[in-house]
Amino acid sequence: MKKDDVLTVTIEDLSSEGLGIGHYDGFALFVKDTVIGDIAEVKVMKMKKTYGFARLVKLIRPSKDRIDAPCPVARQCGGCQIQAMSYDAQLHFKEGKVRGNLQRIGKLADPPMEPVIRMEHPFRYRNKAQFPVGRDKNGKLIAGFYAGRTHSIIECRDCLLGSEINEKILDIVLYHMEQYHVQPYDEASGKGLVRHIMTRVGFRTGQIMVSIVINGEGIPAGAALAERLAQIPGMTSITLNVNKEKTNVIMGRKLKLLWGQEYIEDTIGDVRFRISPLSFYQVNPVQTEKLYGKALEYAGLTGEETVWDLYCGIGTISLFLAQKAKQVYGVEIVPEAIADARRNAELNGIQNAEFYVGKAEEVLPEKYAAEGIYADVIVVDPPRKGCEQSVLETMIQMEPRRIVYVSCDSATLARDLKYLCENGYEAEKICPVDMFGNSVHVETCVLLSKII
Ligand code: SAH
Repeated sequence: MKKDDVLTVTIEDLSSEGLGIGHYDGFALFVKDTVIGDIAEVKVMKMKKTYGFARLVKLIRPSKDRIDAPCPVARQCGGCQIQAMSYDAQLHFKEGKVRGNLQRIGKLADPPMEPVIRMEHPFRYRNKAQFPVGRDKNGKLIAGFYAGRTHSIIECRDCLLGSEINEKILDIVLYHMEQYHVQPYDEASGKGLVRHIMTRVGFRTGQIMVSIVINGEGIPAGAALAERLAQIPGMTSITLNVNKEKTNVIMGRKLKLLWGQEYIEDTIGDVRFRISPLSFYQVNPVQTEKLYGKALEYAGLTGEETVWDLYCGIGTISLFLAQKAKQVYGVEIVPEAIADARRNAELNGIQNAEFYVGKAEEVLPEKYAAEGIYADVIVVDPPRKGCEQSVLETMIQMEPRRIVYVSCDSATLARDLKYLCENGYEAEKICPVDMFGNSVHVETCVLLSKII
C-alpha cells in the first residue's frame, strides 16, 4: 500500500482523536470524517511502518449509526469529532472504550460497570466559549473557531455546543467593530486590536459574562459597546482583557471593567461559585453535578469522615463533599485555583474544608511522613496523565476505606487501577459519565474499596 492508493475499508473503531480506524492488508488506516460501521472508499495520504492516514473519498455504505451532523461546520471545525454519529452510538462507543481499557490495561476481567450516565441534551451544554476574531480572505470581519489544528478561522457565530446568546453577543461586538473601524488582531504581524471574545453563562443563575480580549489598553467607544451589550437580559459582567503578548494563550492577566461587576455566579448542587473571567470552572455544570453526585454516592459519607480531595481545582468536589463529611482537605497545584476554593468555601459558609497549594505527589507524601495524616476516603480527579506513582503509594500507606477515582482518561485510569488493585484495593463500581457529547471524551468515576 502506498500514497495515493484508493481502497475500500470498513471502519471498525475510532482513535482517541476521533479518526475512524479501518484495516487493509494488515495495516491500520486512520480516516477523518468516518464513523464506526461505515464502508468507505478512501485515498491513502501518508504511510508509516505499520499504519497510515487516508482521506474519505466516498461512502460506499454509510454506517447505520451515521446521522447528518446538525452543525454546518462540524467537519471543518474539529471540535465535535463524532457529531455524525447518533447519540446512542456515541455512548456505546464511549462505554466500550472505558471497558476495553480497563480490561486490556487494567487487567480487570469483568469490570463492574454501571450504565453510562447520559446527557439529556448533547447540545448547548457548554457554559463557556472563546471565539477568535479576524478577517476572511475577502477581508470580511469574522468570528468563529480555528479549523482543526490550524489558526485559520472558520466563521461560526452559533456553536451548537454553546449558548444561543453567543450569537447575539458576537453580532453586537462585530457590528461595533465595523462602525468604529476597530481592527481585529492579526497573529502574523502582531497588529490590530480585538483578539478573542470570551463568553460565560451561569446556567443556573442566568448571569452572563463577556470579556473582550484586546491587544491594547482600551477599545474605541467602549462605553457605547457596553451599553449595547448590557441590553441583553442577564448581562452581569462586561470586561476587557489585556493580552499584548505574541502567544497562543488566549487570556492575558489584566482585566478592565467596562460595565457591571467583574464576575458572575453559578451553582453546582447547593454550592455557589464565583467565576471571574480568569478562573477555571467546569464547562458542563449540568453533567458535573451528576458526576459529583456519583462521586458523593461512592464516597458513602455519613458525616463522620475525613476526606482528602487531590487535584481539587477550585474545590468543586471538596465543597460538594464537605456538606456530608466531617472534614475535607483539598490539594491543588495552581495557587489562583486554591484562592478561588477558599473564597468559595467562605461564600457558602463552609468551615470544614481546608486547602493546600502544591503538587499532590509532594504535599501528600510530605504530610504523611511529617504528620501521619489520615483519611477515611480519598478522592482523586487528576489531569489526563493520571496520578504520580508516589501519590498512589502514599494512598496505599494511608489505608483509606474507600478511594474514589474521577478520571478524564480511561487509559491512565486503568493503569492506576491496576496498581491499586494489586495493593489491597478492589474496584467495586465503575460509572462512565458523558460530559462532552459529540466529542470523543468520556469521564469515569470509580469506587475502590479496601479489601479487609
Ligand atoms: N476537581 C477539580 C478539577 C480537576 S482537573 C474540579 O472539579 O474543579 C485537574 C486539576 O489538577 C487541575 O485543577 C490542575 O491544575 C490540577 N493539577 C495538575 N497537576 C497537579 C499536581 N501534580 N498536583 C496537584 N494538582 C494538579
